[in-house]
Amino acid sequence: MARVLITGAAGFLGSHLCDRFIAEGYDVLAMDNLITGNMENLEHLLGLPNFTFYHHDVSNYVHVPGELDYILHFASPASPIDYLKIPIQTLKVSSLGTHNLLGLALHKGARILVASTSEVYGDPLVHPQTEEYWGNVNPVGPRGVYDEAKRFMEAMTMAYHTYHGLETRIVRIFNTYGPRMRLNDGRVLPAFIGQALRGEDLTIFGDGTQTRSFCYVDDLIEGIYRLLMSDHTEPVNIGNPHEITIGQFAEEVISLTGTTQKVVYKELPVNDPMQRQPDITKAKELLDWEPKVMRAEGLDRTYAWFKDLPEDRLYRKEHRDFADYMKTK
Ligand code: UDP
Repeated sequence: MARVLITGAAGFLGSHLCDRFIAEGYDVLAMDNLITGNMENLEHLLGLPNFTFYHHDVSNYVHVPGELDYILHFASPASPIDYLKIPIQTLKVSSLGTHNLLGLALHKGARILVASTSEVYGDPLVHPQTEEYWGNVNPVGPRGVYDEAKRFMEAMTMAYHTYHGLETRIVRIFNTYGPRMRLNDGRVLPAFIGQALRGEDLTIFGDGTQTRSFCYVDDLIEGIYRLLMSDHTEPVNIGNPHEITIGQFAEEVISLTGTTQKVVYKELPVNDPMQRQPDITKAKELLDWEPKVMRAEGLDRTYAWFKDLPEDRLYRKEHRDFADYMKTK
């Protein structure tokens, strides 16, 4: 049985990756320090014989017993609210954490895929963003701790490839949505859906003319799986190129949820990118991949999941940490 280590396993993307590798018949080692992850995302896998959970911070030395075929490094806070709250951890996990995992990959002879981001393009001056664009990042702005750590992660990963001959893959992930997003992480979709479900006004930051391009999580996971199995070491964009303004997106959530609340406008966060759309030519050509789930369908599935959450989760401000979680078991 092939073995895969997934870091950030209790997070939104990490937990969907665990599901995918379990479904493919892998032995899955899942690691998370639960700063932003949530054990509820992994609860359904905990009893399986081919699933092991390690409560560990990858910014510290990482050890796992036995052989490893693949490592997927998905540990990192990933929303602007988190970067503000835990900037140092955000910097450490993609720099020190990446270094530890590259070392582990080398030691185990494993192939490693690291989760990079469209944030490496910053507030982009090239549109749509191709992998060749080097970006427009403010290193000392509030997003700098994430953007620069991810850029360092890419540089370090490429250096391990060229210097050590390590098998590496780099995915640049664009805005993604779906079940298991944290309701209170500040991201726009859970923010809007949470507000609709709690009967609050929807908060648009700025005038709502900024754009994003949202990819449904199942499409993203398929793209990542294909990239891991490919032989392509250069970064590859994975995302859905269908771009909309945040104002339009709010309208879609309003009609989806049937909320009678209104939209209110708040200040645009510092360095909030004005537009974002992936150029996915590479993914199409190299991986024969493109997104399949239309936004209407993806939003339906996502809303169905949020609607089913127990009432208290709508109001929970912080995730439960590991100790709290174990007390309930
Ligand atoms: N946004 C908004 N209202 C919210 C949360 C976010 O208008 O309650 C905006 C935010 O300013 C940004 C866009 O939605 O322009 C996407 O934000 P998100 O944090 O989801 O992703 P990112 O900015 O990292 O792409």
